[in-house]
Order: sequence, then C-alpha cells, then structure tokens
Amino acid sequence: MVALGKEIALKLGELVDRDLIFMHICGTHEAAISRTGLRRVLPGRLKIVMGPGCPVCITPQGEIDAALDLVKKGCTVATYGDLLRVPGTSGSLESSGGDVRVVQGVHKAVEIARNTQKEVVFISVGFETTAPTVAAAILSGPPENFSILSCHRLVPPAMKWLLEQGEARLQGFLLPGHVCTVAGYWEYEQFPVPQVVAGFEPEDILLGLLMLVEQVRKGEARVENAYPRAVTREGNVKAQELMYRVFEPVDAEWRGFPVIPRSGLRLRKEFEQYDAQKKFDITIRHVTKQTACLCDRVLRGMAEPTECRLFGRACTPRTPVGPCMVSHEGACRIWYTYRSHGE
Ligand code: SF4
Repeated sequence: MVALGKEIALKLGELVDRDLIFMHICGTHEAAISRTGLRRVLPGRLKIVMGPGCPVCITPQGEIDAALDLVKKGCTVATYGDLLRVPGTSGSLESSGGDVRVVQGVHKAVEIARNTQKEVVFISVGFETTAPTVAAAILSGPPENFSILSCHRLVPPAMKWLLEQGEARLQGFLLPGHVCTVAGYWEYEQFPVPQVVAGFEPEDILLGLLMLVEQVRKGEARVENAYPRAVTREGNVKAQELMYRVFEPVDAEWRGFPVIPRSGLRLRKEFEQYDAQKKFDITIRHVTKQTACLCDRVLRGMAEPTECRLFGRACTPRTPVGPCMVSHEGACRIWYTYRSHGE
C-alpha cells in the first residue's frame, strides 16, 4: 500500500470511535479488499461486508433451472463462463450435455445465431453495467432465431430492501463504481444513510471508508463521490436511455432475497419476440434451498464465507456448492483465492 493509503488507514484508526458496519455491493471491491489484505489495516470496530454485488450469485436457482429448461428444449444456450457451473436443481449448464457456449458478451451470441438455423438464447445476467449493451444488441435487429432470458437486476431496489429490513445493521454503503459509471448516483440520494461512490484501488476504497466515517461522525447522510475520474451524478445518460427503451422494470426475486419490487428488467412488449421466456413458454419458479450453503446470508451481509461449514471442505472452486464459490465475483470464491488475506 502506498503512503497515501497508510495515511488514510491511520486517520481511520483515530476517527473510528464506535462499532460501524459498511456494505459494498461489488465483486471487484471485494476482490481488491481481499487481494490487498485491506481488512487487516482497518480499525477493529470498522467492518466492511459484501452485499448482493455479484450478478451471477444473485441469480436465483429458478432462473438457472429456466436456462436448463431451454437446453432441454434443444436451444443453443450462450452465456458468460461464470454461470456455467452454478448448480441448478438438477445439474448445471456445464453438466447438462446440451449445446452450451461460453461467450464474452451478447454480440458473440448474436454472431452464433447468424451462423446457425438453431434457436440461440443468451442468458443475460448483470446489473446496470451490462443491460445497455444487451439493449443495443436488441435494437440492432438480431436474427429471428435469437432471444434472451433476461436475468438483469437493478442495484437501488435491493439497497432499499436491505435498509428497510435492517437485519445487517448497516451504517453506510460504499457504492459500486462500475454500476455508477453507467447509472450515476442520483438514484441513491433517496436513501437516508451515508454513501460514497468508490473506485477500485486500495487507496480509493480507504478514502471511501474515511468519507463514510466522517459522515457518520457529523451525523450526515448523503451521497459523495470519491471516484470522480469515472463517475458523475447523472452517469451515462445515453446508456440509461438505451436500457429503458428496450427494458422495463419488473418485480424480481434475487437469490437470498424475496421478490423485490421493480428490481429486475424485462423486455418491453415491442421487443417480446426476443424474450425467450415467452418464445419457449418457460416458467421461472421459486426454488427452496436444500443445502447448508449460506450464500443467501452472505449476499445480505449477514454471514462471512468462512462461517459456512462447507467453505474449503465440501465447497471449493473445483467442487462449488453455491454460486458464491463459482463466480469470480463471488465472496466465497474470492475469500478462497486470497484466504490468507480475506479472513
Ligand atoms: S462456501 Fe460454498 S456452500 Fe458455503 S456459502 Fe459459500 S458457496 Fe455456499
């Protein structure tokens, strides 16, 4: 850590005079925190927990099962590598034996569709960062044999739910820098807690934490931007317009959460020919958890990966039991990778 980081860490040590829990909502933040062992330099009374910041992890089992149903119906299913090994009720996309392709993005899935007669479905996961790209692909007029299963989620409604429940006793949020690059941070101004948009270098994260602590000490609750080199209050307005031209908010379940109002995105009626759920008559069902996996609690900031009795034993990146051990943005996978620093 460079001198600035050490200076901020010392300042935090002087200022933290009470128990504080801040949540970040971003796998990249967790990776940076764990890789650099940042938790070790924080004052003992300051805790930073990960929330629902991994889009693959928060995709509920019912949507994984829906993707498997599409494979069973003979579709070519294209998606990101991280989703392949997430367990559904009966196996994963990887073990399905169907035509499942790993792609880097929606454009590659459209390319596959252009070169086959088969039906190609893109399993479209991600927050506000990825939805505009998918919207652009839909507007570009993909072939008729292309569709998407929209598993997109919006971050603010989940934060609202977390604050209303109050179970994690959070005093503030480190806002996700990547999401805010697109969505801005104006929408977060509705929440009555300290919030700071933070970048991804250790010094960025420490500065964000320092700004949160200062707000708490002053009794303030506002949104500050510690990542102005990438984020503005309004964000990328064109990308937001693109996203809402193609998608509309819909109530959606998140893994570990109930159905959260207006937290998902579905294709608007004029684009429903690209909606795989309608095209193939797929139903997304709620699935009750059957394992000892604590992903649901990890995603709500209620448990740390190492509190799970399966962590590093039955559940490893080679033998994942839950999605948080599968995805590179999942807290369990990150803690397992950097475990000498993450714990
Ligand atoms: S260690 Fe594995 S089983 Fe436990 S919470 Fe994490 S992903 Fe789930």
